[in-house]
Amino acid sequence: MPTCGPTSSEVESSTTNAEEWETFAVVDALAASSGLSVVRENDAACAAIGQFWVGRLSAAQSFATLYMATGFGCGIVEHGALARGASSNVGEIGHMVVEVDGPPCWCGSRGCLEMLAAPRRVISLAMADPALAARLELSGAEADVRRDFAAVGRAAAQGDAACATLIEGSARYVAQAMLSVVNLLDLDRVYLAGPGFAEAGPIYLQVIRDVVTRFARTRDIHGVEVVLSDPARDAAAVGAAALALQQSLTPHMVVGRD
Ligand SMILES: [Zn+2]
Repeated sequence: MPTCGPTSSEVESSTTNAEEWETFAVVDALAASSGLSVVRENDAACAAIGQFWVGRLSAAQSFATLYMATGFGCGIVEHGALARGASSNVGEIGHMVVEVDGPPCWCGSRGCLEMLAAPRRVISLAMADPALAARLELSGAEADVRRDFAAVGRAAAQGDAACATLIEGSARYVAQAMLSVVNLLDLDRVYLAGPGFAEAGPIYLQVIRDVVTRFARTRDIHGVEVVLSDPARDAAAVGAAALALQQSLTPHMVVGRD
């Protein structure tokens, strides 16, 4: 039984906005209650795994999947294997600093991508315009982050100028973060996945593609494709299913495909 959450039952993992889950032994609890084997992986990694399998990608391909829900995560696959780092917490792109003197972040740093570009930031800016908030029927409540962000994204995709400005503002920060990831890892493909891209994905795609195409250090050596995962909303679920299948077929492999 796969579940999307912090990675690896042996490793203490960090998650955003879910500190109460960090010490909860979810793998053991689910295994005990279901009688099934349980694999734990985070949503961004699941999305990357799903892309690898569903997209029938070559094992030689190196790519990153940027996952946006209420925050950001980044799953990185190199030569068919998921990058894991020292503690299976690879891909905390939400805490990449994109503005040195930016607003303080709950992680202790300043100017993190999450503080400047995540759905909560976009909603906060939209709520500052009472007419816009009323027109889109935004609540601004924590429980409604996904719904509110979807409303802004949908309006932006339909040509609402104020909402398009908000989404493009978010996308510019995301694009700079992804440019750094591309340059750091010499990637030739980036996927955008997750419910955050479900409504305004094409706007994010255009802004990120433009920045990466113009500024990737390796642009004269190879292209860098930026692709909207289809369906963007369900990418992590597809990956979780692929992970369970993979674990049962090749239990010696943690992630990846020959
Ligand atoms: Zn941070």
